[in-house]
Amino acid sequence: MRDRGRHRQEARTREGVKNRREVRIPAAATGGSGDPRTEFEQNRPVRRGGPASVRLARRGTSREINRRIAFNLIRTRQPISRADLARLMGTTRGAVTVLVNDLIADRLVFEGATGEAPRGRKPKFLYLDSRRRCVVAIDLRPTRCFLMVTDIAGEPLVGMTSFPTNRDPGRLVAELAKRVRDILDRHPELGRCDGVGVVVPGMVDRTGTRVLFAPRLGWRDVPFQQPLAAATGLPVVIENAGKACALDRFWSARGEPAGPGGLVFLSVSDGLGVGVVTGGQILRGQHNAGAEFGHMPLALEGPRCACGVQGCWEAHVSNLATLSRYLGRELDPGKPIPAELATLTVEDLISRARQRDGLAVAALRATAHYLGAGLAAVVNAIDPARIYVSGEITSAWDLLGPIVRAALDERTLVPIRGQADIVVVPQQELPRLRGAAALVTTPAFAAPVVA
Ligand SMILES: [Zn+2]
Repeated sequence: MRDRGRHRQEARTREGVKNRREVRIPAAATGGSGDPRTEFEQNRPVRRGGPASVRLARRGTSREINRRIAFNLIRTRQPISRADLARLMGTTRGAVTVLVNDLIADRLVFEGATGEAPRGRKPKFLYLDSRRRCVVAIDLRPTRCFLMVTDIAGEPLVGMTSFPTNRDPGRLVAELAKRVRDILDRHPELGRCDGVGVVVPGMVDRTGTRVLFAPRLGWRDVPFQQPLAAATGLPVVIENAGKACALDRFWSARGEPAGPGGLVFLSVSDGLGVGVVTGGQILRGQHNAGAEFGHMPLALEGPRCACGVQGCWEAHVSNLATLSRYLGRELDPGKPIPAELATLTVEDLISRARQRDGLAVAALRATAHYLGAGLAAVVNAIDPARIYVSGEITSAWDLLGPIVRAALDERTLVPIRGQADIVVVPQQELPRLRGAAALVTTPAFAAPVVA
């Protein structure tokens, strides 16, 4: 792993700038991928009044970034002493004290449970303060919605429920609000709800309020965040599912560290959600519509895509595409699945493949091939250190992983061929719901920056 510890930041005390200390942030301390600063921010001194300071002021001060790194370390390493935290961050006890006191004041962290020490001063340990507070996570999919209550680290507190998606935005908002209220009323022990995070199968505008385009829902420019916030009386954050999952991985130590090279997250399900972290930031583009690789053309005369044209990557690898291939008939993503086929799932196909159903094997292998081929374009464009893949299809990764890898390596350019790790995120980890929770728990980095 490359040493990023040389990057320095100012840790400002409560009194402001008069008592500055340097805080070094080695890659290990951030879970490898956790340094949220852009290359620009990392490598340049902050010039007062210059573009760097404007950018920092918008995205949160460097102290805020250090605070989040400290919080993330406590979250993942708890119980942890202040001394160990300082060691992991490569900084002084004094600098850590400032950050930790902030976190304690905000009730994000508490100190307690005296640790084992043979004699002398007994150290106290820092814990995530997830007592009596929670987050509601919602995974809005074209056919079903999934809802779960988590703690502030994204760990489930109340199990997942699911229900059919009402595609009428007004009715859906009313139903979601009712379900959120019901679950919070039924579980008073959850305490305060910090907010509701919703991942959607489409593009969300830069202000994080409207769904610009969700082809499988048939939504165009639908206001969603404010109506749901009004109906629930809670803060609401919405984001594209792929971006939210990438955000969660970026901040999470659940996966292996992605290193400084960035990451790509693929959510293969009804559609193909893609999220990219590069240069320490979620790739958003001008309209927060960047990284929509699912609609990259893979074959111009290929199957019809939900977005309206033919041959997108998504139209080759979505669950519907796999089922279409198995059935030998093109299922139009814009129309409901015929009733006689509606119960057939990719999981069924996988179990048939394991029972040597040749058609099922062929359909899944083709999906894996297209997945790898499309991924090659993403890798050639982004050159990530790590690729996360989630979705139903991953339960057959023993059969499909080598095909994906071969198709990827066949088409990636020589210097980066075979370099990016592919990591499967199992369905049991509920990556989309964790992504939804991350929208609430990492607000400074989840919300698009508005000029
Ligand atoms: Zn498309």
